[in-house]
Amino acid sequence: MNSFLLKDKEYVAGTYGRFPLELTEGKGCIVKDINGKEYIDMGSGIGVTAFGYADEEWAKAVTAQACKLQHTSNLYYTEPCALLAEALCQKTGMKKVFFSNSGAEANECAIKVARKYSAEKKGDEFYTIITLRNSFHGRTLTTLSATGQDVFHKLFNPLTPGFAHVMANDTAELINAVEALKPAGIMLEMVQGEGGVIPLEKEFVFTAQRLANEKDIPLIIDEVQTGNGRTGSLYAYMQFGITPDIVSTAKGLGGGLPIGATMMSEKMQNVLGPSDHGSTYGGNPVCCAGALTVINRLDESFLSEVKEKSAYIFGELCGAEGIESVSGMGLMIGIKTTGNAKEIVNECINQGVLCLTAKDKVRLLPPLNIPMDSLKKAIEVIKSVCKEKK
Ligand SMILES: *Cc1c(COP(=O)(O)O)cnc(C)c1O
Repeated sequence: MNSFLLKDKEYVAGTYGRFPLELTEGKGCIVKDINGKEYIDMGSGIGVTAFGYADEEWAKAVTAQACKLQHTSNLYYTEPCALLAEALCQKTGMKKVFFSNSGAEANECAIKVARKYSAEKKGDEFYTIITLRNSFHGRTLTTLSATGQDVFHKLFNPLTPGFAHVMANDTAELINAVEALKPAGIMLEMVQGEGGVIPLEKEFVFTAQRLANEKDIPLIIDEVQTGNGRTGSLYAYMQFGITPDIVSTAKGLGGGLPIGATMMSEKMQNVLGPSDHGSTYGGNPVCCAGALTVINRLDESFLSEVKEKSAYIFGELCGAEGIESVSGMGLMIGIKTTGNAKEIVNECINQGVLCLTAKDKVRLLPPLNIPMDSLKKAIEVIKSVCKEKK
């Protein structure tokens, strides 16, 4: 088979530190490289292929829609877009959805809704969005500004003004920021993903909710990575017992096709009106048809299997040789290894298992429907590599 690695290196912008691995096809949690070597996928294309590769139900819905009507623009109505919005609202209690094409765009929309709500209610000077240090909200200039990690900011200044960052779980700092600033929103990931797979403490999340309620500040939950069953509930905020005003999501929602969604609560549902926001591709019928097959399968019994697999992984890895600690929720897992995480991931590839990193951790985001026998095999490999490279 022809290799396109050199061509890629020559012509594709060098923004990614890719592994020297060329993937050609997959089925379920198994993916093959150009030499026919098989890997168990513990990364899902960064939490995207929620039901694995070439999932039958998803592929059938997507191909049927592609053969029927692949795009209309938002000047017209289509069935998949309306059905997906209905499913999301019915399953979350949110009232309206705006569709886009990525996590960053879902967050851009969330920020616009929060700012417009606050500007209308309280005045133009209420524009600051409070987010967390070590957060990740995307790569567009505004979501980069929301992202509380200086490493991503360098040389891209000036960023969008109106963002302030506080330490995760530092309740006093959050209270002070709300007092000192004129906030238009508080934006949180329930589990900081790119930041190292670190769940927020309940106490801190409750404080954010209380401040949001008391001062009428929109509470935005970024569920781009944590959403759509990843943490063992439909959305991670549901396990914290809060009721956000705005929820953004993407990654796993599309099952492999680009889609972002920004969900708005009763209070926020009419903030955006005609021409306030838009997206040519947003709500694309092929992407929505695929996403519907993902959302419709995330019922209680499926989610309890996600939790069982999670418990299995924690049980196997906690206290194992070469592993300092394990963090995360559901099938979103960070492993603090004593050895170098990048070296461990490289050796796992050699041994036929694809993993991710997050900061200095090994990160796992396997397909939600990974069969137990494949999961066991992958965890055995990860455990033995962590031990070998400790
Ligand atoms: C991946 C991610 C984003 C950005 O999503 P893109 O689809 O890459 O734009 C935003 N927020 C969180 C929490 C993410 O994990």
